[in-house]
This record gives sequence, C-alpha cells and structure tokens, in this order.
Amino acid sequence: MSVDPFCTKSETDKTVFYESASFMVLYDIKPVVRGHCLFIPKRHVVDLPELKKHEQRELWELLCSMIPRILKIYVADGNSYDLTSQIGPYSGRTIAHLHIHLLPRRKDDIYQSDSKNIFEDIKLNRSSFSSADVQKEVSALRKEFGYRGLQK
Ligand SMILES: [Zn+2]
Repeated sequence: MSVDPFCTKSETDKTVFYESASFMVLYDIKPVVRGHCLFIPKRHVVDLPELKKHEQRELWELLCSMIPRILKIYVADGNSYDLTSQIGPYSGRTIAHLHIHLLPRRKDDIYQSDSKNIFEDIKLNRSSFSSADVQKEVSALRKEFGYRGLQK
C-alpha cells in the first residue's frame, strides 16, 4: 500500500458524509456489513496518542453523537455494533492512518455464524456489497446528514 487513501482528497471525497473540525466520517469503500463507517482524522495521524488534547475530546464526542444516529439508520438490532481499530504493524492494519471502524450488527448478519470472522474480512477488504450499493448508501447518508462537501 504505497498511497495513503485517507490523505488523498480524491479518495475520501468518494464516501465522506460528515465532517467535524478535525475529523471526517466516511462510508467504507469495501463494507463488510451494511452501515460500515470509518472515523478518521483529517490530518495524518497514525496512533491515538498523536492526537492533540482537543482532538481527543472531539473524536470521543463525535463517536458518541454519531454512533446512535448511524445505528438508527441501519436498524442495528439491540443497538449492537463493533467499534474497532487496527494500530501497528502486527494488528492486521492495512492503512497506517488512524481509522476507527463502526460496524452495525444485526441478529441475522452473516457474522453470527462461527465460520465467519468479521475482523478477517476487514483485513482482507472482503465485501459482499457492490460499488453501486456503496454509492447508494453514501448518497442516502449525505442527504440524512445534510452534507454538501465542505472539506478543504
Ligand atoms: Zn494519512
């Protein structure tokens, strides 16, 4: 992976649907479940402790305000979700730019089966959704969040 897609505006432009001062929320380009989103810092940051104090607060507030809104849209059963980030070379990380995955879960999703591993599929970019599916979700999310492409 030579190019960092999260520092490449033409890449983040494809699926961004919400921005705060220092962060963006993207729909994953290869979602493993419906509603699979990413929280990323706008500036290049690899690990959580590199965030400045005000960014740490902003990220936590963003997660706490966005998670219920996203779960409501994707009707996560029993408010179920995974929140995960792979940091460091031995974690299964594929992109060395901090990103936190939000994975809404349903009682009938394919990962309820013991033979399916959600973390493995994230690592391998294994998705059962087409790029048309992804664009449809992004359009709906932009409408829902009133996103008009404000990022610099
Ligand atoms: Zn970066």
